[in-house]
Amino acid sequence: MSSLKKNHQNTTTFINSEEDKALRPLQLIDFIGQNELKAKLDVAIKAAKKRREAIDHILFSGPPGLGKTTLAAIVAKEIDSNFHSTSAPAISRPKDLAKILTLLGNGDILFIDEIHRLSPACEEILYPAMEDNSIDFIIGEGIAAQSVKLNLKPFTLIGATTRSGMLSSPLKSRFGMEFKIEFYKEDALKEIIHRSSKLLKIAIEHDAAKEIAKRSRMTPRIANRILRRLRDYATVEKIAKINYDYSKICLMKLGIDKLGLSNTDRLILKLIIDRYNGGPVGLSTIAALIDEEPRTITEDCEPFLLRIGLLEKTSKGRIVTPKTYAHFNKK
Ligand code: ADP
Repeated sequence: MSSLKKNHQNTTTFINSEEDKALRPLQLIDFIGQNELKAKLDVAIKAAKKRREAIDHILFSGPPGLGKTTLAAIVAKEIDSNFHSTSAPAISRPKDLAKILTLLGNGDILFIDEIHRLSPACEEILYPAMEDNSIDFIIGEGIAAQSVKLNLKPFTLIGATTRSGMLSSPLKSRFGMEFKIEFYKEDALKEIIHRSSKLLKIAIEHDAAKEIAKRSRMTPRIANRILRRLRDYATVEKIAKINYDYSKICLMKLGIDKLGLSNTDRLILKLIIDRYNGGPVGLSTIAALIDEEPRTITEDCEPFLLRIGLLEKTSKGRIVTPKTYAHFNKK
């Protein structure tokens, strides 16, 4: 499979960072939070296993870092299938996707990250593949061109998207299950931090884990990242156990404020306040002025800022709220 990379025995992967992989839960039971989603997924997994059938196609949606890739790999592990992972931007031509599909084995899982970014021509390949386990392709040219149908082995497509609204309805309707992953509550994040601290072999006190959880933008990947940076400080400064005071000092050094805002978040919000008197400001103007990709703003920053009420979207552009002024001690 040319566009995929083997990493260990049963698994091919393309995109995930080594850091994320080391802390990734491998079984549903170790996946913390999202209880309603887990219960539904558990039933689907057990039913597919009992019937010895490929599990229905699944779509996971939600902001980055909430566990979409992790859940896809867990499904593969739980049903004892090979897991192949790629992302839509890596599949530029329909024939690349056709090749990936033809190489899948019986019951294999194909995970496509950022599936909303697939080209319409690639989507066309997926429709018959998802519906009848077949692909249609054209051989020859002009009047000699012929459409040939090729049968595939039964497989499961798991798609992940940060922008489910951007997925075309024909593609969306071909997923048998759709799960929206929610931002995490503080307790679940605390549990994730304690689990990761054991794996990373760094002792952490309860209050310190709570403080990190509060500043993790409701996102496990960010909680894990902060924990790693604190472990770096602790290693260099020969601290055996991270306590509350030490966690606060490190968080300050890392520039992570009480709400967990990043430098980019602060730049966006301060720009709207200082230069545009609270807004509205268009996305492209913000992106140009802070020298950031519009996609980084819409996918990495905005979901959390909207969720905690520091930003609002109007038909004329982005505006900040009284809470934003209060956070920056501005009138
Ligand atoms: P996404 O695909 O949504 O961007 P990932 O699945 O890559 O997110 O998750 C990012 C990291 O967060 C992973 O390393 C994983 O360890 C951790 N993680 C995510 N969700 C959970 C969870 N519910 N329990 C424990 N760890 C989690």
